[in-house]
Amino acid sequence: MSHLDPEVAALLAMGEQASEDEQRHLDDCAECAAEVASFTRAVAAGRATRIGAELLTPPDRVWESIRSELDLPDGQAGEGTDSGPSAASAVTADVSSAAARHVARRRRVSRRPVFFVTAGAAVAVVAIIAGVWMSGGIVPRAEVISEARLDGFPTWAGAQGEAMLERVDGHDRVVVDLTASLPDDGYREVWLLTSDASDLISLGVLDGDTGTFDIPDDVDLRRFTVVDISQETVDGDPAHSGDSIVRGTLAAP
Ligand SMILES: [Zn+2]
Repeated sequence: MSHLDPEVAALLAMGEQASEDEQRHLDDCAECAAEVASFTRAVAAGRATRIGAELLTPPDRVWESIRSELDLPDGQAGEGTDSGPSAASAVTADVSSAAARHVARRRRVSRRPVFFVTAGAAVAVVAIIAGVWMSGGIVPRAEVISEARLDGFPTWAGAQGEAMLERVDGHDRVVVDLTASLPDDGYREVWLLTSDASDLISLGVLDGDTGTFDIPDDVDLRRFTVVDISQETVDGDPAHSGDSIVRGTLAAP
């Protein structure tokens, strides 16, 4: 069976009743359900602006991927960047902020009934989504290959985390999320290990609680199945400190 038409997904996200066929497809197809959900978040963000409620805050890793997609330094994503439709992972944010800007403009210039504002925002969202599709800027989906629960080491009481191995546009990356106490000095580093810990590669420094790390294409992910986050001291030694905070093995979701 073919997937839902993107326009249909957008309409469903705005509260249109799904037909029996569409509903049946959504129940079975995680991909389309995720698509509707992501449109729903974009629409909700636009509506939240309209009624003055708080904007939905996407998870940090969303901003993280937008930042890396746009090569922005920390703290600049989501501030109305003018990216084109090809900056694909920024599309959801673009839709929300464009809808929000649209609503904001309408609010300033008129006191028309709320209904028109809502309809205007909805039309803007559909137009933007349709435009993105028609211009060929299709969102590359992050396909979750495997995931891991990261268990804390005894010396790190209460530490825990999650890791997800994703494939986007043919490239693999690991998204990690860590909850652990933060020492005054040193830094955290993310590693991939073989299951017997005989070999390891550093993916990079984890700044904050979440991070996205591209995996070099020549890394054999059938061998490197374990995600480890370590506490490192600033000693110039690039090797693993031996002080692991959490660790877990990637497995199919
Ligand atoms: Zn589908």
